[in-house]
Amino acid sequence: MRNWKFNHIDFSTYPFYEGDDLGVVYNQDQIQIKIWAPTAKQVEFRLYEKSIGGKPLRIENLVSSVNGSWKLKLHGNFEGLYYTFKVNDGDWLNETPGVDARAVGVNGKRGLIFDLPKTNPIGWENDQPVRLENSVDAVLYELHVRDFSKASNSAMKNKGRFLAFTEEGTLSRENLSTGIDHLKELGITHVHLLPVADFFTVDEANPNEKYNWGYDPLNYNTPEGSYASNPDNISRITEFKQLVMSLHQSGIGVVMDVVYNHTGHTRRAYFNQTVPGYYYRQNRNGSFANASGCGNEIASERTMVRKYIIDSLKYWVEEFHIDGFRFDLMGIHDIETMNQVRENLDTIRPGILLYGEGWTADKSPMDEQFRATKGNTQKLKGIASFNDDMRDAIKGNNFDGKSKGFVSGQTLREEAVKFGIVAACHHPQIVYGYVESSYEAWAKEPWQCVNYASCHDNFTLFDKLKLSCPDADEETLKKMQKLAGAIVLTSQGIPFLHAGSEFCRSKNGEHNSYKSPDKINQIDWSLKFKNQDVFNYFKKLIELRKKVPAFKMRSSDEIRKHLHFSSNYQPGVIAYSIHDYPNDLNWKAIQLVFNASHKPVTFGLAAHMNWKLIAKDDTINISGNGYHFGSDISVPPISMMILVKEV
Ligand code: CA
Repeated sequence: MRNWKFNHIDFSTYPFYEGDDLGVVYNQDQIQIKIWAPTAKQVEFRLYEKSIGGKPLRIENLVSSVNGSWKLKLHGNFEGLYYTFKVNDGDWLNETPGVDARAVGVNGKRGLIFDLPKTNPIGWENDQPVRLENSVDAVLYELHVRDFSKASNSAMKNKGRFLAFTEEGTLSRENLSTGIDHLKELGITHVHLLPVADFFTVDEANPNEKYNWGYDPLNYNTPEGSYASNPDNISRITEFKQLVMSLHQSGIGVVMDVVYNHTGHTRRAYFNQTVPGYYYRQNRNGSFANASGCGNEIASERTMVRKYIIDSLKYWVEEFHIDGFRFDLMGIHDIETMNQVRENLDTIRPGILLYGEGWTADKSPMDEQFRATKGNTQKLKGIASFNDDMRDAIKGNNFDGKSKGFVSGQTLREEAVKFGIVAACHHPQIVYGYVESSYEAWAKEPWQCVNYASCHDNFTLFDKLKLSCPDADEETLKKMQKLAGAIVLTSQGIPFLHAGSEFCRSKNGEHNSYKSPDKINQIDWSLKFKNQDVFNYFKKLIELRKKVPAFKMRSSDEIRKHLHFSSNYQPGVIAYSIHDYPNDLNWKAIQLVFNASHKPVTFGLAAHMNWKLIAKDDTINISGNGYHFGSDISVPPISMMILVKEV
């Protein structure tokens, strides 16, 4: 039996291979094969006709080369054939496609020899990424590829597939737009896709048998096959490019959720079957550490692991024109790796969005001072963290269905919501002792903070509101949903929406749907009709955010200078004003009031004769909805009010 404990090994002595030619490089008359396997005594390359089964057409030995690499050249045209590697480091390890495969057959068991330019869809050479002046200009929309189109009422033909994103003109049974037209109508700037790199659990030959979010990585450098029309050839690559191109043509950027913090398998993982132990952190006793809660954690700080992550991200940017990355459990990664990611991607294209979960799922053996946690956001270069303080303040504890937050009527959450309004930066009017659970500003600048009320994890926002307010009627719950959206979309920092929250998406109270059936996870497009008022409200909020620069201040100095909270405390009410922030709307001052209480509250306006009403109750109109004369104004229950003073 192989020993899977590594306390006897000093991984820092492993050689560093700096080339960018690992994997199988195709040419019409030859293939060049290279892998990094410093512990290997023998490496076999096996060529197959099919992606599964059959005897190898050829078995060739690689030759040991520089810095732990092994290489081989084979003459001939091998396009369309499949391959594996088999490493012997004293014992034979499993057959794998290696760790660098950019195309694979069904279920990612064998690599596919392919001609990369042939994966480009028609028009790909004209595809342009989405450029933002500042990341706070983004409105992120988190979506699972399959959830988007799977429901029978989605009107999309390519159900559960990348190609659904290319279908225009789709209408729900109630004649409302679905699919990509819906995204355009809503006005979001970026679709953030749950993992689209190859993952393990869903059988690509029978994709309807199981569902999975995709946080079980298998091959990092090729798209998931269950989302392709044919998982056995290059269509997973071509069709993902078609998705990207379609969104880009609609002016929408593409953010990939990347899971470099762990692999779906541990011992069987292709990393461990190539260089045992190297890619993972170990506990003191030599066993696999498990900060991911999934059985292992990646050792991003080791030089060849760091290089692997950076090279992989560069490939997605260069080959697939990706506009941003969301790092799953970013708190597992070391700060140095994350900063090198930023530097490397900036050399390709500055301004790529980078943000992540600044925490882990369990304990890591790496000291927190070296890891990319939320508390270390200021040590990261141009990388934002999710603001879970704000998330929980808005709606209550994420894991406890019954707990309430600001919008559902819990008082003393106001300071933590204010903390989100200033994008987790320092502001002299916030009492940080009330800001659970950070108790201090962890961002220095607003672009370091991603504000949200809900995401794919835990209850949907609407389910959470329902569970925590069992006596509230549907209308009241919808008001809370709108108020949550209003807070997120007017706050400083980067706003983030969970797909479907714009029409009260439900998972029937399911709190962890990572492998729940489609009927729980799929987006039910009939909700757009049922909750059309909520959709229209979110749409208006996004439009407002895009047009009002004061909601997207560039620095915390600007926030402290222009944004002032009302010092008059009323439970369940947050009010602030923004003065003299440059705009072309002729606005001198903006007054916002969020009333989470179930009764109207009277708010005393600064002495001024005519305030223009921009938002009241369900109505948002940037051109104004009449004027308010006098000082006191009544703010309706569970709603946001915005008034402006013109120049
Ligand atoms: Ca897969």
